Amino acid sequence: MLDNLRDAVRKFLTGSSSYDKAVEDFIKELQKSLISADVNVKLVFSLTNKIKERLKNEKPPTYIERREWFIKIVYDELSNLFGGDKEPKVIPDKIPYVIMLVGVQGTGKTTTAGKLAYFYKKKGFKVGLVGADVYRPAALEQLQQLGEQIGVPVYGEPGEKDAVGIAKRGVEKFLNEKMEIIIVDTAGRHGYGEEAALLEEMKNIYEAIKPDEVTLVIDASIGQKAYDLASKFNQASKIGTIIITKMDGTAKGGGALSAVAATGATIKFIGTGEKIDELEVFNPRRFVARILGMGDIETILEKIKEVENYDKMQKKMEEVISGKGKLTLRDVYNQLIALRKMGPLSKLFQLLPGIGMLGQIPEDQLKVGEEKMRKWLAIMNSMTYEELDNPSIIDKSRMRRIALGSGTEIEDVKELIEHYNLMQRTIKMLKRRKKDVEKLLGQF
Ligand code: GDP
Ligand code: MG
Repeated sequence: MLDNLRDAVRKFLTGSSSYDKAVEDFIKELQKSLISADVNVKLVFSLTNKIKERLKNEKPPTYIERREWFIKIVYDELSNLFGGDKEPKVIPDKIPYVIMLVGVQGTGKTTTAGKLAYFYKKKGFKVGLVGADVYRPAALEQLQQLGEQIGVPVYGEPGEKDAVGIAKRGVEKFLNEKMEIIIVDTAGRHGYGEEAALLEEMKNIYEAIKPDEVTLVIDASIGQKAYDLASKFNQASKIGTIIITKMDGTAKGGGALSAVAATGATIKFIGTGEKIDELEVFNPRRFVARILGMGDIETILEKIKEVENYDKMQKKMEEVISGKGKLTLRDVYNQLIALRKMGPLSKLFQLLPGIGMLGQIPEDQLKVGEEKMRKWLAIMNSMTYEELDNPSIIDKSRMRRIALGSGTEIEDVKELIEHYNLMQRTIKMLKRRKKDVEKLLGQF
């Protein structure tokens, strides 16, 4: 099951076997988990091939460990499998808003109607439920019980056999009562494999109440078979969304999810239990982060963001050295923030293209201790933008003000400015040497 993946990630990140072996093992485990979750075998292999290809063709960014980078790739590709960056819109863009639930009997429509009503009620909407299932004897009572439990009014006509009429009158009544979200529960007697009949029924009620959204409820336990139903529904209804129920109770949930995602349909919620609050907004990335282990994924994503900041900084330094930009204290500030996590400043210089071979950089002088960093950040927080951009204007009296504001000594402020001057000198030196090397190279 997909639950195994969390342990596999942990083992991969902390394991002691060689990287290549660990990758191989992880990919095998991934294939096994997805296939046993009923994800289409072809999809599984195309996923793992894609992962292997990226491993071959891409390089981990500097400072990101290979193992973490690998998990990031797995996270990206798995997210794509489950629908990519699709973020379902669950808050209606107009009021009133009518949602009609359709689906095969027993999939969880009525339960989901209650869950949705509860979800929107908690968000502050005035919600009404309409019970238009005239086939199942106790259908209306079931909905009424749910409505009572969550304090949402339920419209129904006991004994009446005209589902279209009930739906119509129920929606009208709630519209008159200024309800903001109206949820219509329907019967859907048809079994899987009878998509045509299901869609026909959907059409009839649809014509009568003209809902703003039609939601197909699919039971996760049908696994890959969800594909047919979802793709036909997706073609038939422009305003169609999908809710997959019983994600908790089945090994096939992965299959249903990936199959539905493959149709391009929007999966809006997943049902994760029988209780009224067991409904989650479905977001592929969040879902995948959870099955891989939220903590690990968040840590890796955060690191990658830091590295991106670091890269930005490096570019700025390159600009400064090539004469296109000017170094300000603001840059020093950003560097300190980034370097707090990344390591000594001297590394930054070493990373610059062509600089490594230019000889010694006064490495020791560029190292900044943690305590000093803390002070300097405080000092720079007390500076004005003008001072950060033009440190040369910082005279004695400004220094005094800054020291006072940051709870440091004038000596500390002086030291920071000296550090800045040292960086300036280093950059000048690097510029000169770069020119020398270029001149030298130009002779060939
Ligand atoms: P309907 O015929 O489509 O209206 O289905 P119901 O709402 O009556 O639900 C059928 C059964 O599925 C009930 O026993 C529900 O408690 C159960 N059910 C619905 N949603 C979920 C879910 O997300 N997880 C689990 N475990 N059971 C669910
Ligand atoms: Mg029902």
